[in-house]
Amino acid sequence: MRQELFDLIMVPLLTFFFAALQKGRPQRRYRLWLAGWLLELTSMAIWEWEQISHISSPATETVRIWAIVFAGIAFLLSFGQKDLTLRQLCSFGLALSVPSCLGILLINTGTAQKWMICVLIVGGEVLADWSLRRSYGLQSKARLLVLDILAVVSGVAMLRLVATNQMQVIYAVILAEIFTACGLMFLTLPSRNRAGQWIASQGFFFWALQYPLYWWMGDRPGWESSFITLTSLWYLPKYLVAFGMILRVMEEDQERVRTLTEEYRLLYEGNPHPMFVFSPEDGRFLSANEAALRAYGYGMEEFLGLAVPEIFPPEDAPTRMEMLQYERRFERYQTLSRRKDGSSFHAEMTMYPVTFQSQSARFLLVVDTTEHVELNRELVRQAQHDHLTGLPNRTLLEDRMNQWLAIAQRSDKPAALMTLDLDRFKHINDTYGHLVGDECLKQAAARMQSRIRQSDTLARTGGEEFTLIVNHVSSEDGARSLAESLLRLFDRPLHINGLIIPITISIGVAIYPADGLDLDTLRQLSDDALYQAKRSGRNRVVFAGHMPATDVQQLTSD
Ligand code: GH3
Ligand code: MG
Ligand code: MG
Repeated sequence: MRQELFDLIMVPLLTFFFAALQKGRPQRRYRLWLAGWLLELTSMAIWEWEQISHISSPATETVRIWAIVFAGIAFLLSFGQKDLTLRQLCSFGLALSVPSCLGILLINTGTAQKWMICVLIVGGEVLADWSLRRSYGLQSKARLLVLDILAVVSGVAMLRLVATNQMQVIYAVILAEIFTACGLMFLTLPSRNRAGQWIASQGFFFWALQYPLYWWMGDRPGWESSFITLTSLWYLPKYLVAFGMILRVMEEDQERVRTLTEEYRLLYEGNPHPMFVFSPEDGRFLSANEAALRAYGYGMEEFLGLAVPEIFPPEDAPTRMEMLQYERRFERYQTLSRRKDGSSFHAEMTMYPVTFQSQSARFLLVVDTTEHVELNRELVRQAQHDHLTGLPNRTLLEDRMNQWLAIAQRSDKPAALMTLDLDRFKHINDTYGHLVGDECLKQAAARMQSRIRQSDTLARTGGEEFTLIVNHVSSEDGARSLAESLLRLFDRPLHINGLIIPITISIGVAIYPADGLDLDTLRQLSDDALYQAKRSGRNRVVFAGHMPATDVQQLTSD
């Protein structure tokens, strides 16, 4: 009775333990274990009730054995493939249990015919073999062979019991077969840590062995003492199974922690981009990955003594700190970031709130975008500049002209628009060739560029034609002196590949607001003035406001 009391406490406790275990864990396996232990508890409860009330009917015995059969099948299916659908699981469960349960019912109620039982035995074994192959997805020939042997041996044993009129003990073979299969399937599972599954398998083998042994000893006089010992140890194999299962859970948890650590290492530690975790209160870094140490040049210790503002240029630091501190959502910033040596790089920073070591914190991912930003700048520069002379092209000029006019309008000061054209350039090309012509263009552009202020824009607007926009000329005289100084730039000839090439330019000038108020008019007038300069002998400056009226009329009609 003392032993029974122990079992009466232990089995419900185990069931409770497995109920607590499966809560909050996604694995279906743990729920199947709980089902198994609940069924085992049911069979135990029926047994105890039979002992106390001294009532043992075929009906209660049938239900008691069914409960053990179902418990065994729940354990058996628990290690089946993870991706089985619930429907598949139920159908395998039914295929495994229906023939045996039906057989047990027929035998216990005394309604069984021998042929019926034989059909159930053969059909049941075939179904069981098929279900296990499918639910475990067995590929290995050795495992399939073991399973086939188990089915054949059990089938033959049961048929022999039918032939020798001992059908009432067939249940012992069924249970032995189910728990042997449990032991085999558990044992052959591929896994890294095997202690849990090994102990559970041994438990299942002993569990399986108990039924035939119990029946065999019970039948033989002289084995009473062993029989009593066996009865008092009835639950021992089950505790072995439970212990193995608990160990297995711990092993699986360990495995999960290992996987998580590996994933963490891969995603955080091994990430090629700098990553940080910092406290929103004082901005102190709580963690930094290897890439952060490499990118910023600080050691880990140093980093943990620093705060977020240190990775920004001093002038940006206060605003960035404020942004990073108060922002509570996922945010992305384009910014400059500062290294330990004071140098900066372009960065895209992604920040979002996280919980780190049970505290509210911010996660920061830094992607160095310097190459990207520089490439972008280069593309924009190429799109806006002439590749031969490096001067702004028409596109950029258009932009600058609008600004130029707006500034002129706001400041209410005169501004000049000049069109400059190299004289008889075709002749230079024809005489010295195109390559020398190109070099002439480059040198001429450089000479002119050297003369103008940063705030003015000289653009190449045609083959050998340039446009210059000048802000704030004090008066027309100021524009004239600039234009004449440009002409004088070409008093000295160009020197190209040992050649001495004399060159001159002509300039047409329109003044805002004296000559016109809008760009189109001013552009037209400076072109007309240039034309006039060419017509009057080249190498000179002509102001639109000083063209003879007849010329203007003639030009406009042209
Ligand atoms: P004008 O004094 O009337 O301006 O005479 P021009 O010969 O300079 O004028 P024209 O418009 O007849 O010829 C311009 C020449 O500029 C024709 C072309 O061969 C040359 N040219 C245009 N673009 C380039 C270039 O990129 N490289 C070189 N080498 N020559 C160019
Ligand atoms: Mg020309
Ligand atoms: Mg021209």
